[in-house]
Amino acid sequence: MTFDFTPSQATFRDALSRVEAMLRHKDGRLPGAVLKAYVERFFTMKEVFLDLAEVHQEPLYVLDHANLKKHAAMFKNAFGACFSDFACYYAMKSNNHPEVSRTLIDQGFGLDVSSGVEVERALALGAEDVIFSGPGKTDKELFLAVENSGRVKVLMDSLGEMDRLNRLAMQAGKRVRVGLRITPPSSPWKKFGVALANLGAAWKKAQECPGLEIQGLQFHTSWNLDPSQQVRTIAAIGREIGQWSPEMLGALKFLDIGGGYWPQAGEWQVHAVTQAGQVMKLAGLDVDRPLEHYYAPAQSLDVFAQSLYQAVETHIFSTVPCRICMEPGRWLCNGAMHLLLNVVDKKDGGLVITDAGTNAIGWERYEMDYAPVLNLSRPALDEKACEIMGSLCTPHDLWGLSYWGQDIQPGDVLLIPDQGAYTYSLKQDFIKAPPRVISMP
Ligand SMILES: *Cc1c(COP(=O)(O)O)cnc(C)c1O
Repeated sequence: MTFDFTPSQATFRDALSRVEAMLRHKDGRLPGAVLKAYVERFFTMKEVFLDLAEVHQEPLYVLDHANLKKHAAMFKNAFGACFSDFACYYAMKSNNHPEVSRTLIDQGFGLDVSSGVEVERALALGAEDVIFSGPGKTDKELFLAVENSGRVKVLMDSLGEMDRLNRLAMQAGKRVRVGLRITPPSSPWKKFGVALANLGAAWKKAQECPGLEIQGLQFHTSWNLDPSQQVRTIAAIGREIGQWSPEMLGALKFLDIGGGYWPQAGEWQVHAVTQAGQVMKLAGLDVDRPLEHYYAPAQSLDVFAQSLYQAVETHIFSTVPCRICMEPGRWLCNGAMHLLLNVVDKKDGGLVITDAGTNAIGWERYEMDYAPVLNLSRPALDEKACEIMGSLCTPHDLWGLSYWGQDIQPGDVLLIPDQGAYTYSLKQDFIKAPPRVISMP
């Protein structure tokens, strides 16, 4: 039996190229001192988690409001130090728990949504400033945006979508605020946005649509370990709008530079494991070493803010002053949830089984990503090899190949910190119910 979500070829190729990039960076090992400091920080908070485990006696997603608020403030401060006119929209898909969005709305964030369901959720949360982006919006979804045009801006993905939205807006007697999404020239994905070569014509056409008020441009690049992809895209947009007429530029009120900011800890990776659960060699890595971890370092937010500001000032503000918008997801919510599990069984070879399965996070994350598993019941700054598996009837149900602690036994409480991004939203109704979400006291 396998998960019904298997990474596509494209995802796999992407993962492979990231492992290769990682190997090019020095030796690509996650420094032991960094890892120990990280683990120690969570062990010092162990009582809070042990109390929750004792009270609830079941696997939990622990919602960490304080950490989320801290990251929201850090994000705003870093960019606020550079940009005088900027707005942040939280990408709801990265963690769609209502409390996460609500907390960020309270911190002054707008919401970035990608479907009718997400528009409805955003409106129900009381969000006043919602941007709706994404390919293939249906008429029904567009109509929802038209009906709520005071609170929702549509970032249009194609000329076809522009036609349909204009028609729906005119029928409703409304004028909808819109932006145009651009396909970043370097992007491997052509399914998002309009090619730069067609941008000028698309902009002019939007200006002629009576149902639309065209205001801005948007792009999004993923997995930004550093700002280079964003800077290249900003430069390309600058060259394009440098050719625009004053009438075209006069309408440009915002440039939305998307999200994709990688958390500063970098990308932590396990050696790779095949679909059959066997350790394999990937891109020349000697992978049969559960205590070795690899990482691709990421830049600090200050470096992102400074580089992006420089790029925008050089390539955009020189032509037209405008508001800068951002759509962070992962960077904000990664530390907003932690997973708390209980060891149920221990097999002859030492393998342990937990009460939760990885349906809790919806994909085979820990076959690729390294997330330290902390044994809160027997804490020690010592990592031991041990297969930690969930209780689903599939061998892909892996939490990790090691734990931090003195020992591991049935009844122990395990913590996997910082599992807030692209986990909770992807949880599956597969064999087990996903864990409940409990707020950290
Ligand atoms: C997913 C997404 C984001 C957020 O990406 P993160 O990597 O979580 O920061 C922002 N904008 C758009 C359009 C997206 O699709």
